[in-house]
Amino acid sequence: ELGKIADAMGLEAFLVGGFVRDLVMSHKNEDFDVVVEGDGIAFARRFAQVHGCRVHSHSEFGTAVIIMEDGFKIDVASARFEYYASPASLPVVETSSLKMDLYRRDFTVNTMAIQINEKSFGTLIDYFGAQRDIKAKAIRVLHNLSFVEDPTRVFRAIRFEQRYGFSIGKLTSNLIKNAVKMDFFRHLSGRRLFSELKLILEDENPIGAVDRMAGYNLLPFIHPDLDFGPEKQDLFESVKEVLTWHDLQFMDDSYMKWAVQFLALFHGFDQDQVDAALLRLEIAPKFHDLFYEHRQYGRQCLYRLEREEKIINSELYRMLRLLPTEMLLFLLARAKSKNAKRRLTRFLTELKGVACLLSGKTLKQMGIKPGPIYKKVLDAVLDARLDGKVFTFEDEMALAV
Ligand code: ATP
Repeated sequence: ELGKIADAMGLEAFLVGGFVRDLVMSHKNEDFDVVVEGDGIAFARRFAQVHGCRVHSHSEFGTAVIIMEDGFKIDVASARFEYYASPASLPVVETSSLKMDLYRRDFTVNTMAIQINEKSFGTLIDYFGAQRDIKAKAIRVLHNLSFVEDPTRVFRAIRFEQRYGFSIGKLTSNLIKNAVKMDFFRHLSGRRLFSELKLILEDENPIGAVDRMAGYNLLPFIHPDLDFGPEKQDLFESVKEVLTWHDLQFMDDSYMKWAVQFLALFHGFDQDQVDAALLRLEIAPKFHDLFYEHRQYGRQCLYRLEREEKIINSELYRMLRLLPTEMLLFLLARAKSKNAKRRLTRFLTELKGVACLLSGKTLKQMGIKPGPIYKKVLDAVLDARLDGKVFTFEDEMALAV
């Protein structure tokens, strides 16, 4: 359908980037990125008009997002014809805008395109040896200045390498070492550094990637004291197990995977060190609680969970309900004793979702005068339910009275 619109408008249109890479490698990918030679925004608008969907556009970048009725999104970018003065005063040349667009990408494996115009639908375009590098399982930059242009590509190289089980090519590896030596990251904004780090820590298994970052000596750019020794590797292994368990158990519970890994990365740091890392990465204030209050309180909780002889359900509930899922999962990964592990899993699987049947409304209907007493009564009823002392609505009513 995209192809038809492109044909009607006399534009050449291509699928590009991660989708094509993953298609060639038979990996799943549902991110559609389209590049249009010409005005991508006009193309997106026409498509939306014909198919009755919405469009968000950014005219300064020439990009648009088509949002289908079911929420499916297609990113559209414009590639404009560009004129390059070639060296040795040869005449100015016009380069295919698609080729220029692809040349600006990070790695050869990301430079393929598939034409979607009807006449040559499905033609694979590979200017820079992407298929060769996929066969060779190599991550390679397109030119020597790639990391100068954008140092975040260093982190992307590691992420792709680990995700696909590829290796960073020899020359690319040397360019990374050079980037580290010359400190290309000094001027990199915290926001961009963080967003790449986050992508690494969101991946299924970040251990290989963090290990690689340590190997290239990249961790000190996040914080000078950050390292990845055997102890921290064990902690990451343990986090991985916990997250797998959690994701199987609660398939649609959402939480920030990266944040759990982040807690593991900073484990052993004191507050000043965490402070400096959060500052370097320009981490938004809405996440600070997790790395300050919750981190501190979580540590106290774990201490109790490991050592206390007896903790009844209501006590466990009151203690742990103040912590977000990310911290609870991190504590579970850190827990040493069977007791602490059992308590944390009990909270997550059984207690967290418990609620009493009575509400403020029912108390009112029972003729109890509204006031601070309500909270007391409802808390007591909930505690009784957690501790298995009440089961039915009538039990709760009796207790409330
Ligand atoms: P993922 O599966 O992680 O989404 P992706 O390849 O789709 O991988 P995106 O970050 O969505 O990754 O980027 C889309 C495309 O844009 C990539 O294929 C890549 O070619 C290009 N790209 C992204 N970031 C950069 C960058 N920093 N420098 C050059 N090209 C980039």
